[in-house]
Amino acid sequence: MTIIGFFDLEPFEKKYLENKLKGTKDKIFFNTKSLNSKNANKYKNLEVVAVFILSKITKDVMDKMPKLKLITTMSTGYDHIDLEEAKKRGIKVTNVPVYGQNTVAEHAFALLQTLNRHIIPAVERTRKGDFNYKGLLGRDLKGQTLGVVGTGHIGEFVIKYAKSFGMKVIASDTRKNKELAKELKFKYVSLKKLCQEADIISLHVPLLESTYHLLGKEEFKQMKKGVIIVNTSRGPLIDSKELIKALDKGIVSGAALDVLELESDIKKEAKLIMSMSSDEKRLLTLVENHELLQRENVIITPHLAFYTEEAIKRILDTTLKNIHCYKKGRLKNKVR
Ligand code: NAD
Repeated sequence: MTIIGFFDLEPFEKKYLENKLKGTKDKIFFNTKSLNSKNANKYKNLEVVAVFILSKITKDVMDKMPKLKLITTMSTGYDHIDLEEAKKRGIKVTNVPVYGQNTVAEHAFALLQTLNRHIIPAVERTRKGDFNYKGLLGRDLKGQTLGVVGTGHIGEFVIKYAKSFGMKVIASDTRKNKELAKELKFKYVSLKKLCQEADIISLHVPLLESTYHLLGKEEFKQMKKGVIIVNTSRGPLIDSKELIKALDKGIVSGAALDVLELESDIKKEAKLIMSMSSDEKRLLTLVENHELLQRENVIITPHLAFYTEEAIKRILDTTLKNIHCYKKGRLKNKVR
C-alpha cells in the first residue's frame, strides 16, 4: 500500500480522480489546499505527493516529510520544486511533459488578439450601449513578424497557428530543431536578432537560471518600436522593471501576460505586504506587478493558459500513470 496525497485540487478534479482510483488499495488523501512548509507536518507519512505549481516544495517541506519518495507535479514547469534538494534525498521528481501544447498556444493567441484588437475596451463600450469604435484600431496579424522564443512543444503549436494567420516566423532556441524549421518554414536567429526584427514576441522557454530575466534592459533596447510581448511561460522570464520602462518609452506597445513575477505572492498579497517589509526587492517587484495590472495596454490573465477541460483530464491521466509507473519501479516522465 502506498500513501499518496494529491494537492491543489478543484472539486471536479477530485471527483475525476476518485472515479479513476475506485477500488485502489492505496491510501489516498485529496486536498484542495496547497502543500507548504506550514502544513507539511500533517502529511509526514506520505510517500507520494502530486502537486500543482501553487505548492512550493522546498527543503523545509522535504524536511518535514521524511517518507517522501516521489513528487509528481501536475504541470510541465517544475520550478516550484527544489530539485537539488530532492536529488540529495533520493526523492524522484516527475512531471507532465505534454498535455496542452495546443491549449497554451491557443491562449497565447487569445491574449494577443484580445490586446491587439482592443477586445476588452470594445466589449466594455458596447455593454454600456456605446457602439463607437474610434480609438480601437488594431493591426492585421497577416504579414507581421512573430518572434518565438523556445520552439519546444508549445512553441511548435504557436508557430503552426502563426503560419495559419499568414505571419512570418523567426525563432530562437538553444537547441535548434532543423527539421521543424524546414517543415514549418521558419528561420532560427539569435535572441538579439529576434528582438530587432519581431513585431510580436512570444515566450515559450522554461524558467531556468539561464532564462531568468531573458527579456531585460539589453533586449528591450534592441526591440522594434511598437513591439507586442506575449508571455504564457513564466513571469520571471521578463524583468518587470525594464518592461515598465519599455512601455513608458513606447518601445513596447502592449504586453499580454498569463504569468507575472511573484504571481503567487500577489494572491497572498495582504499577508505578504505585512511580512515583506524587510525584503525590498520582492516588495519592489510586487509594486511593479501592480503597476502592470493598472495599464490599459497590458492585459493579464491569472496563469490559466493550461486551463481547459481537455488539458486537465490529460494532466490527471498522466499523473496517475506517473504514480503507477513509480509503483512498478520504472519511472516515467522523470524531471532532469
Ligand atoms: P519544452 O521543454 O517542450 O520547450 C522549451 C524549449 O525552450 C526547448 O526547445 C528548449 O530547448 C528551449 N530553451 C531552453 N532554454 C532556452 C534559452 N535559454 N533560450 C532559448 N530557448 C531555450 O516546453 P513547453 O512544453 O513548450 O513549455 C514551455 C514552458 O511553458 C514551460 O516550461 C512552462 O514554464 C510554460 N507553461 C505555461 C503554462 C501556463 O499555463 N501558462 C502551461 C504549460 C507550460
